[in-house]
Amino acid sequence: MKFGGTSVADIDRIRNAARHVKRESAAGHEVAVVVSAMAGVTNQLVALCETAGKERHVYDRREYDAVVATGEQVTAGLMAIALQDLGIKARSWQGWQLPILTSAAHGAARIADIDGAALIRHFKDKEVPVIAGFQGVHKETGRVTTLGRGGSDTSAVAIAAAIRAERCDIYTDVDGVYTSDPRVVPRAKRLDKVAFEEMLELASLGAKVMQVRSVELGMVHNVRIFVRSSFDAPDSIDPHGNPPGTLICDEGEIMEQQTVTGIAFSRDEAQISIRQVQDKPGVAAAIFGPLAAANINVDMIVQNVSADGKTTDLTFTVPAADYQRSLDTIKKAKEAIGYQRLDGATDVAKISVIGIGMRSHAGVAAEAFRALAERAINIRAITTSEIKFSLLIDAAYTELAVRTLHSLYGLDQAAP
Ligand code: ADP
Ligand code: ASP
Ligand code: MG
Repeated sequence: MKFGGTSVADIDRIRNAARHVKRESAAGHEVAVVVSAMAGVTNQLVALCETAGKERHVYDRREYDAVVATGEQVTAGLMAIALQDLGIKARSWQGWQLPILTSAAHGAARIADIDGAALIRHFKDKEVPVIAGFQGVHKETGRVTTLGRGGSDTSAVAIAAAIRAERCDIYTDVDGVYTSDPRVVPRAKRLDKVAFEEMLELASLGAKVMQVRSVELGMVHNVRIFVRSSFDAPDSIDPHGNPPGTLICDEGEIMEQQTVTGIAFSRDEAQISIRQVQDKPGVAAAIFGPLAAANINVDMIVQNVSADGKTTDLTFTVPAADYQRSLDTIKKAKEAIGYQRLDGATDVAKISVIGIGMRSHAGVAAEAFRALAERAINIRAITTSEIKFSLLIDAAYTELAVRTLHSLYGLDQAAP
């Protein structure tokens, strides 16, 4: 049972979450609990690091981890106390105590190994382990690491895999995964089931309800993930019944497959266009090599075939946070690349349409082009893959575009 930040935002919510745990444990289930930091705490800790190191901008990522990992330590202890207060045997575990061994990539570490045996031993004593999410420890240096923002989801799925749990329940502030972010699309519908592959696309293309790596891990280890609400009254739920929520599972478990399952969007994009680039072998390498070396993740790439065989334009997108660094990197490589002009924009958004059914349906994207054209929304770039396509548009039209496509593909809930 994993509880996210809003679900443990204050003592009342922590006590409410503890009652969810009590219900399951009283029903005879062996449960391990994973908690996030209280809502807003991680942001505050990140801001403190930034202020402490403000002159040099780049500060020691190991110390960043030492600071931001504390948020989860607090909630783990508080949750254990709240459980004990309800008469349940419980103790907190920090990442290094379990241990959750990770890579050395401070701030975005990957889990390498978790020994589930210690947890399983404690189940025998009817003790509920409360594990601090988001954090681990690097095997060689023994230093505290964190798993990247939203990383408690990944802690939970990894622990579920390590103890071979029947299910990994993600308790959050929505009662499941919706066809689009319910904050932007009021008529979004809850999905009863969604395939790992689709959830992976939804998450990596902007739906922040689950961290991307947690879905990846679930897919690799075949952990069934159930996204549900922590705001439901704990005692109104039948621990053996079918509560509302979304099961993220294997494609084979889903009977009725829609063509389009969901729409994701992201405003964290920036567009860079290189004008009149020489059209000759080696130019793409001269552009994307230095960007890769600078650890900049390039996403959409659009290049035209030149008419005269000499020059063409090339457009690509990068995370908005890396925009300036990307421009600087390209300018530095100007001589090797050979181009006339560099343009860019940060007021862009990427809208993505996702569905496994697209594999066997033609013309799905064409419908979107027509619908957006009718709304006079211009498309700057397009990318497609087997189960999704993405469109880059002006950020000002994000909500209109998402809602238009949501209706177009029949995802709207009937008006109440
Ligand atoms: P937690 O703190 O529990 O980890 P998050 O804020 O990380 O919760 O994730 C839950 C939020 O994800 C929801 O409040 C919702 O606004 C947002 N979200 C974005 N896309 C979706 C979607 N397709 N379905 C459900 N929630 C979504
Ligand atoms: N507290 C961490 C964050 O805000 C991890 C998480 O909530 O999953 O990113
Ligand atoms: Mg989250």
